[in-house]
Amino acid sequence: MSVNNLINYKSAIVENITNAFDSKNVASVDILRLDKIHEIISGNKWYKLKYYLETARDKQRIITFGGAYSNHLVATAFAAKVIGKESIGIVRGEEPATYSPSLKDSVSYGMQLIFVPRESYKNRSDILDKINVDPTDDIVIDEGGFGETGVKGAADILELVPDLTSYTHILCAVGTGTMLAGIVRAAQPHQHVIGISAVKGADELTPIVSSFQQPPHAVFEINFNYHHGGYAKKTPVLIDFMNTFYQKTGIPTDFVYSGKLLFAVNELIKENYFPHNSSLLVIHCGGIQGNRSLPAGMLQF
Ligand SMILES: *Cc1c(COP(=O)(O)O)cnc(C)c1O
Repeated sequence: MSVNNLINYKSAIVENITNAFDSKNVASVDILRLDKIHEIISGNKWYKLKYYLETARDKQRIITFGGAYSNHLVATAFAAKVIGKESIGIVRGEEPATYSPSLKDSVSYGMQLIFVPRESYKNRSDILDKINVDPTDDIVIDEGGFGETGVKGAADILELVPDLTSYTHILCAVGTGTMLAGIVRAAQPHQHVIGISAVKGADELTPIVSSFQQPPHAVFEINFNYHHGGYAKKTPVLIDFMNTFYQKTGIPTDFVYSGKLLFAVNELIKENYFPHNSSLLVIHCGGIQGNRSLPAGMLQF
């Protein structure tokens, strides 16, 4: 079976959410509901994987990397199962006594997990040697689908947007920067792309995203002010914002990426960051499953 047949492209609609923001300093805010294309292989994860999966057709195993809360691991495990391939997830950190929901899901789709201490996780070739990786049988996908193949897939995301030219600014969340690199590549040169980093102090991401571009390309920047303490960290104001945003729009967000992204959009509008006639497009790139690690009742959705 092909994963593409399971993706519900029609549900990736663009909704107007201008009224959800405290201040009316911009002309309009739209959101692309990429979170709705599939329940498991949600949002940008499908786009980043799609060209890797094409290459995987004549391979036996798909091997990839991620943290214990990685949506990418789950998406890869699920996709591998659909196309009938074995999968191995190399997980950063010691094996936890209790698996996170993401790890449990990955295992349920048949993924074999290998836990690697944080110190040795960066040493990819050592890890791959230990599991006898062979380029004829195996495809290795970097963490978060990072790399040209992932960027190429992410660039296709903007094909979902009917009136792309009308936007002055496009905003998305940033983890590895793969999606942002694709969005910058596909955006038009007059547009300004802003990535909101879910990771603290990842300054190296700016030159990395640049390295995937060829001139002329859209202007982009990564804002590092809205990580709320770091990757997968949260604050009460973030959780409050996510609940309020849901009450106003009916749109659920996750605390790792899209919650921080929309929080940042609200703050930047308040601070008059955007010229008043701006039309913003926010990309809601999925990953609501991450919220399952929160205590019950913290979120009202
Ligand atoms: C994985 C993920 C991201 C980060 O994407 P990168 O390409 O790694 O920057 C952002 N938002 C959501 C919802 C995700 O699941």
